[in-house]
Amino acid sequence: MPKEHIAARTQVFNESVIREMTRLALVHGAMNLAQGYPDFPAPDFIKQAAIDCINADINQYAITWGSPRLRRAIADKTLRLSGLDLDPDREITVTCGATEAMMCAMLAIIEPGDEVIVFEPFYENYVPDAAMSGAKLVFVTLRGEDFDFDPAELRAAFSAKTKAIIVNTPNNPSGKVFRHDELQQIADLCQEFDTLCITDEIYEHILYDHHEHISIATLPGMYDRTITISGLSKTFSVTGWRLGYMLAPAHLSNALRKVHDFLTVGAPAPLQEAAAIAIEQADSYYPELRAMYGHKRGILLNALRESGFHCHQPQGAYYIMADFSDLKFNGDDTAFAHHLIQHVGVAPVPGSSFYKGPAGNTMVRFTFSKSEETLLEAARRLGTM
Ligand code: GLN
Repeated sequence: MPKEHIAARTQVFNESVIREMTRLALVHGAMNLAQGYPDFPAPDFIKQAAIDCINADINQYAITWGSPRLRRAIADKTLRLSGLDLDPDREITVTCGATEAMMCAMLAIIEPGDEVIVFEPFYENYVPDAAMSGAKLVFVTLRGEDFDFDPAELRAAFSAKTKAIIVNTPNNPSGKVFRHDELQQIADLCQEFDTLCITDEIYEHILYDHHEHISIATLPGMYDRTITISGLSKTFSVTGWRLGYMLAPAHLSNALRKVHDFLTVGAPAPLQEAAAIAIEQADSYYPELRAMYGHKRGILLNALRESGFHCHQPQGAYYIMADFSDLKFNGDDTAFAHHLIQHVGVAPVPGSSFYKGPAGNTMVRFTFSKSEETLLEAARRLGTM
């Protein structure tokens, strides 16, 4: 028998479907509404801050946990917006994107075989994160127009084996913003079963209509058992800067910091300093961001509905899950995504990438994190279907 050179943990997940769709979009000249990143410029104030920081020679390793000014800016912002009063020296850790933060969180808390509850549809990274850390995922399906969960189904998912639950609000891909009463039910179960909560809040500032973001860490009894993850990528349109962070009580942060230190040493130093400058002056920018994405949401929702898709109206984040059953396409979601890329010139992500079960097989996900020009051209092409 030849020696097996590849670890089994790499064989239970595949290459990212989201990034595969981006590659296909490039090959076929399709408008890329697959991968969620802006194709428009980042705000001038954050770009100028980065240029200034490099010129000021902030070019060597930052402190592993993150630059003091950035951790202070995150602490001040968190206190202003959610009321949590964090110690930046012990409870905040800056990472290379929220992606690293999520992997750190899993590696820091999971023993092989531990169960982790995740709502489906889910962001695709959680599957490889679980595989690499040895966690067994237990899925609870969000259903209906508002992607609600069934409280009995959620309770049944919890057991003595449950180590943590992953919450992602605002949610990628559904656009759901978890309500206070829903977070309270999750919080009650976390406390009853003594489990941790990992909450991915990377879209915290991208909200529509009357929807407001609530951090589960602010609910009574939850701070001590919650790892809150966010970052700069989506809020400041700088996905390539790779800046994320984790908020957690000191006893959890100690473990998170050890994993982070040996995974990446630290996030890019000049960009951390620029991020601090941006966060310090961003309070008036957040409403502008909301308004900009509200407008983009309208363009894509109209285009998709006029083309015959049944769409869930997102409450937050910048994705639309679109059901194509009414279009009478003869094939599954992957075949439909390939058809759209090759013959219509618009790239989505197959819905099954976000589900363990079959619920995604009649859906594709589109992002509207694109310029008005891109969205209007995509709308024109969808109109030719
Ligand atoms: N979060 C973005 C999305 O869901 C980008 C994914 C990625 O490539 N990391 O599309």
